[in-house]
Order: sequence, then C-alpha cells, then structure tokens
Amino acid sequence: MSDRPRLPGQPTPIPDALAALPTIRARIEAGHPVLFLDFDGTLTPIRDQPEQAELSAQGRATLTRLAECMPVAIVSGRGLTDLVTRVGIDGLSYAGSHGFEIQFARGDETLHYEVGQEYLLDIEAAETELRDRLADVAGCRIERKRYTLAIHYRHCSRVSARQVRQTVEAFTGARPRLTHIRGKMVVEVRPDIAWHKGNAVQWVLQRAGDATRLPLVPIYIGDDTTDEDALRTLPAHGIGIRVSATAHRRTAAGWRLRDPQAVWMFLDGLADDCESGTDDDPSRTSAQTRA
Ligand SMILES: [Mg+2]
Repeated sequence: MSDRPRLPGQPTPIPDALAALPTIRARIEAGHPVLFLDFDGTLTPIRDQPEQAELSAQGRATLTRLAECMPVAIVSGRGLTDLVTRVGIDGLSYAGSHGFEIQFARGDETLHYEVGQEYLLDIEAAETELRDRLADVAGCRIERKRYTLAIHYRHCSRVSARQVRQTVEAFTGARPRLTHIRGKMVVEVRPDIAWHKGNAVQWVLQRAGDATRLPLVPIYIGDDTTDEDALRTLPAHGIGIRVSATAHRRTAAGWRLRDPQAVWMFLDGLADDCESGTDDDPSRTSAQTRA
C-alpha cells in the first residue's frame, strides 16, 4: 500500500485483495462462497473493440476448477448470448445486459429470467433513432443488446465524444421509459426500471442457497461504475473487490485488485484453496457441489 500523504478530500486507499488473502480466506471459510465476476476489464483487459475480448484457455480452466467448488456467475453489460458464447463454460450462471437477462444454473437445471420485456419496443425505437442521429459521427459505434443499446465512443475525437453523450442524454431525457448509464467510453440506453447488476446478484443468491446452515458468502469482482450497484448490495460478511489501477477511489468494495492479471492470481489462489479444502472436508464438498 502506498504511504504517500493523502490529499484533503481524497478517498481512503482501498486495501489490496492479494495482500489481504488471510482475512478474505477466513470469511470464505465461515460459509459457502458464491462467486460473481464481471467480464470486460475484470477477466479480460479492455479492448479497443468489444469483440476482441477473449477468455484465455488458462482462464477457462481456472473458472472450471472454481465451478466445481462453488456456484460461479458471470455478470456483464454484454448481451446474454454474446456472454455465454464468449465464456463458453457449462454449469456457470450468466447475467447479461446488466442483469436484465439471466441464465441460472443449479445442478442439472437451468432457469431463465428476463426483466423488462415490455420495454423491447422502446429499445428498438431508440436503436433506429440513435443510429440515424449519430450516423455522421466518426468513430461512434452502436451495439444492440437485447435490453440495452450501447453507444461506444472510444474511437471518437473529444468533441465527437461529447456530442455522442449529449445526444444520448437528450434522447433519454425526453423519454420517461428510458434512461442511460455511463461506462468506460460508452453510454448505454436502458429501460428506466429499478433493476441492475445488484438485483441480478440478489436474484442468484436467493436461488443458490441450499439446506446447509452456513451462510452464503458472496464474492463480487468488477471494474466499472455499474459494478458498484452490485458491490453495494453485498452483505457485511460478503467480499467486494473493485478492479482498479488506483487505490484512491470511492467504492463500495472492501478490497482492490490492480488489473485482470491480479484478478487471475486471486482466482487461482481461490481455486487452490478450494481444492485443498475439499480434500480435507468431504462434507463441505458435497454441500458446495449441491449449491
Ligand atoms: Mg467491466
């Protein structure tokens, strides 16, 4: 941790999750972990084009190992179909479009849940109109997901990026059924209903429990402002981790990991712990496999 003096008004530095592993491990061992992972910027570095983000074979192996020990859910702003294809591991749960589309795996059963179906026409109309209004803005790219519309401006000039944001904000400002959220070099149009990644996490948690007496310990790792919605919903005994290059950041997370590489170090450690723990305690294995 840096010992640089803190400037007035600057947030308290977030402790590093790798350095805090003993504390985190103790929390996990007090219950049954349920792991939630964002995708872009968390499991993969942010790419110039979203379609370039790929999970490595090694990463896929780590997630598969983890899924044998605990429920694992990938929670992303990507559309569900894109997310499932990109991760490509059976037995995981997936929440796409910031939780508007959920594919929940428990044992042999898979549940599907969608929020906001009555807004599909609004999103369709928004796509048509914004494609028209932004057609001449160089570098602007519009990506349709089932329940949201992502307007990427990573390749726009600073002036054009501002124009994109202002256009989208004015558009949703005039439509009470829609709202927008900002992410990293992207602004997304979505239904104006109280549903976000945090609701998706709670939805999964309510269904991930089993008859064991130990509490579920949600672990959530994410890098973006939309992940704060999920981090805020974690119980006090949960483990919230923000992926961030800077330690001085306002966040609901208790810990930080520097970048996706650090995330994989953390996840590999978790998988190792989990495997050695299950060797020691067969009752824990069966309970976790069921969950
Ligand atoms: Mg992300």
